[in-house]
Parts: sequence; C-alpha cells; structure tokens
Amino acid sequence: MTDTIDTSIATPSYSVTQERRIVTAIPGPKSEELHRRRLAVVPRGVSSALPVYIAKANGAILVDVDGNQFIDLGAGIGVTTVGHTEKAVVDAAAGQLQDVIHTLFTITPYEEYVRVAELLAEHTPGDFEKRTVLVNSGAEAVENGVKIARKHTGRNGVAVLEHAYHGRTNLTMAMNFKAAPYSTGFGPFAGDVYRAPNSYPYHDGLSGTEAAARTINYLEKTVGAADLACLVVEPIQGEGGFVVPAEGFLPALQEWCTAQGIVFIADEIQSGMARTGAYFASEHFGLVPDMVLSAKGIAGGLPLAGVTGRAEIMDAAQPGGLGGTFGGNPVAAAAAIAVFEQIEAGSLLAEAKRIEQTLYAGLLELQAKYDIIGEVRGIGAMVAIELVEPGTASTTKTPNAEAVNAIVAFAAQRGVLVLTAGTYGNVLRFLPSLAVSDALLADALSVLDEAFASLGA
Ligand SMILES: *Cc1c(COP(=O)(O)O)cnc(C)c1O
Repeated sequence: MTDTIDTSIATPSYSVTQERRIVTAIPGPKSEELHRRRLAVVPRGVSSALPVYIAKANGAILVDVDGNQFIDLGAGIGVTTVGHTEKAVVDAAAGQLQDVIHTLFTITPYEEYVRVAELLAEHTPGDFEKRTVLVNSGAEAVENGVKIARKHTGRNGVAVLEHAYHGRTNLTMAMNFKAAPYSTGFGPFAGDVYRAPNSYPYHDGLSGTEAAARTINYLEKTVGAADLACLVVEPIQGEGGFVVPAEGFLPALQEWCTAQGIVFIADEIQSGMARTGAYFASEHFGLVPDMVLSAKGIAGGLPLAGVTGRAEIMDAAQPGGLGGTFGGNPVAAAAAIAVFEQIEAGSLLAEAKRIEQTLYAGLLELQAKYDIIGEVRGIGAMVAIELVEPGTASTTKTPNAEAVNAIVAFAAQRGVLVLTAGTYGNVLRFLPSLAVSDALLADALSVLDEAFASLGA
C-alpha cells in the first residue's frame, strides 16, 4: 500500500494547475489553424469573443490547444459555476452514461428528472407546492414560462423590462431590449410583448418605490393589467450589465402582479444556482416569484433548464402540452443533482460571498485610481464595472465601450478572460466559477490594473 489516499474533502484537487500561463501569441498557431477551418464551415452569425480553441478546462482555468492557460472570469457565461469539469459532476454524468442516456421522459420516465424537480422545489423561494418542467435551454425555459402563464391566466400580454435579455428564439427575441445583434433583420417578431422602464440606480437616480411606480404606471397605461399574463424580470440583469435594481423595486412589482393576477416570473437563468451567494438572487430582494426559470449554472455545463412554479399555475397546461425530445435528459439531470450536492459539499454559497468581497475590494481600488470606472456593482460572484468617458462618472455617465474592448483585449493577451455586457457594451462583468481562488482573482485584478494603466486614463 504505497499509494497515498487523498482524504481531503474540503480541498478540491485539480487536474490543471490553477494559474495563468501564456506560452504563444494569442491566438496561438494551432488556434489560428482551427479558426481557418471554422470560418469555412460555421456561419459568421456564430461569433466568438476570443478565438482561442480550448482543449481542456478545469476549476477556473481554460487551457487552449497551444498550451496557454487562461483565468476564466466568465465561466461560459455563468454556466460552470461549480468549476470546470468539477469531479462530482463528471462522475455523476459518466455514471449516468453507463445506465441510461435517453428514454424521453414523456414516454418512459426516470428518477433523475423527478429528483431535479424535487431539488428545485426545495431551493427556489416559497413554501408551497411547486411543479417543474425541464427543458434544454434558457430561451426554452422562458418560452415555456410564458406559455404556461398565458394558459393559466387566459391572457396574452407579456411584460418585460428595459435592458432585459431572455434568449434568441422568436418569442425571446421580442422580449430582449437590445436589437443588435440579437434581433436585427430576424423579424417578424412575436406580438403582445410590452417593454417597461426598469430600475437602474446609477442612471435614473430613482428609489425603488419611485422606479416601481413608474414601471407600473407605464404598464397600466400602455397595456392594462387585465391584459397581462405575466411580468418577466431578471432579479439582477445579466446581459444588461448586472444591473441591481434599487431596494424595494422588485417587491413592489411583485405585489402589483399578485394584486392584478399577473404571473410574476423571475428569470434566474444567469443569477441563479448559487451565483449570488443564495440559491436564487430573488432571495436578496425578499421575492417569492410565482415562477422561477433556471438554466446556465444548473448542470455544471451540460444543457438543462427548468421552469419551476406554483402547482396551480404549472398544472394549467394540459397533459401533453409541455415537453420535448431532449428535455430533462438523464445525463444532464444526473449532473444537475451533483451540482446541487456540490453547492452544499463545497459550501459554494459562502464561496460566492468570498468572491464578492475579493472582487469588490479590488475593483473599488481600481475605481479610486481610474475615473472611467463609473460604478462597481453586483452581488456574490456576479459583479460588474460600468465604464464611462473620462470626467463623466458623476455627470453624463457617457458609455465607454472602447475602453471595455481595449481592456478585454489587453487581458486576453495576458491570460485573463473577461466578458463584456451592457446595452451600450460598456460593462465588464465578472462571473467566475465559484472554484476560483482569491490568489487567482488577485492575479487577474493586477492584470486589469495594468490594462487600465495602458489606456492612459
Ligand atoms: C442566457 C440567458 C437566457 C437564454 O438562455 P439560453 O440557454 O442561451 O437560451 C435567458 N435569460 C437570461 C437572463 C440569460 O442570461
């Protein structure tokens, strides 16, 4: 018995050293070759933020085909929240691959689907009977949420907020705020979608109560509550730039919805699954949504999404009215069960709070040095900075997308992957895996410091 047995539970072991390392130009020669092949067969509509081709990913590190290692501050847009190739997820999925890969839940069901529904019932806000339908993508969850809300209410109208993002299908394109690139030229779009003002404290300066009154008034005047089936909100807007609404905004909207018989739907596709230090961001605002949509982080990187809602709303859909060939696939469902277990085993809610502290401290230091950082905001491991033109941080707050793009490019050259966001493309968002260490964050922040310094701002 010479083998050493790893008895540590709390300390994860990684198959890739958790450090950044740049050994070629970015992109390197092998990535460039792959990119040439890709351009010949993949339409340009599918773009890539950074065309380095990834061969391996583990923890918070991406390794490209040329051997470069990147600190991943995007986690595939908040998908690999438990860490890339997290061992419990890999084991659960691999085990499931041996047992059952597909039957179709609407033909012959299996336990994993039921277990995910139980876990979502347990961990979404609200102590009442719930039902969950599992689908394949976030947009599909939004589509189903709206579909069910319409059936339940017998109404057609769908209300959304400014700066919202809900997907790339036909209905969800109509629900997005930003036209380019998501919907430009792709019409005609679904009707009966109404966009109301949101709460964006940095720009509107309104209290939550004031912003909610404005939103409600707008919807009452332009649609009328009696014609609204649902209001779909992201508790913290994702693509919109991690916009955290003013205190009281969302509870006031929910109260109005409840009074008017409008289904209040929280799109937690980006903000959910432990990312903000709570299972769902709704908890930070005291919300108990009628319906919660989850996707992105739910299955450690496998495609899965869910619509979880009050039993009486969800059961409005007739038998056979919900489902789809791959929805709730056994392998993805097994991975999701492992994700829920890992949130507990790895104390990931606490890890998200640790990351918030480290990121906030570091970003506030940068803000003190560089006046183009207009605002630092976010909750848990969902933190962003909004960049503005020099000298406008407290006046016109003029968007500065150019600086964002320059910083993203600078950071990539040095092995730090940062994502952008915001209607005006002037937000840098940080949504790393919860496996990212403080040391990696400090290293990434030092690269960002150099990046800002390089702008001469
Ligand atoms: C990503 C996202 C969606 C769409 O999810 P897909 O899986 O890409 O279809 C919807 N809503 C929010 C808030 C998202 O972040």
